[in-house]
Amino acid sequence: MLYNKMNHDYVDLGENAHLPSELHPVVEQNKNKLVDKAAAIGIDVVITETRRSVKQQDKLYAQGRSTGGNIVTHAKGGESYHNYGLAIDYAVRNKNGTLIWSTTYDGNKNGKEDWYEVAEIAKYLGFEWGGDWLNFKDYPHLQMDFGLSINQLKKGVRPDTKTNQ
Ligand SMILES: [Zn+2]
Repeated sequence: MLYNKMNHDYVDLGENAHLPSELHPVVEQNKNKLVDKAAAIGIDVVITETRRSVKQQDKLYAQGRSTGGNIVTHAKGGESYHNYGLAIDYAVRNKNGTLIWSTTYDGNKNGKEDWYEVAEIAKYLGFEWGGDWLNFKDYPHLQMDFGLSINQLKKGVRPDTKTNQ
């Protein structure tokens, strides 16, 4: 696997950080494949989140800690794959256009939970699923790390941006 390694080692996650402003093209491509493949088996997948700025991540981290609501992430700004355009979040939508957050929902009536069916497709496409995490289950979360740790990403290492097609 090829990486574009920048030749500086400082960690700058301020406004001038070299963070992508959109999804990595491979993630973008597989996001679209996921939606199409799910639609083919009768599941309407909505992508609720893609790339997130460090500021947005910090705000989300504050939720359930210094601000109200439930804790939804364990990642501070710069520590989420969303910050590097390498993660998306999904939800399942029913025929009335309502987002379904219950992981036991079986809208296509094939005896399998839709959320898990989508996760299976995503994993086939190469995503890692937050629902498989042991400590903090993040069911909507899908990421592609390209073999890079958050520490490497913070130091400026980036995945190659070439797609297969
Ligand atoms: Zn996520």
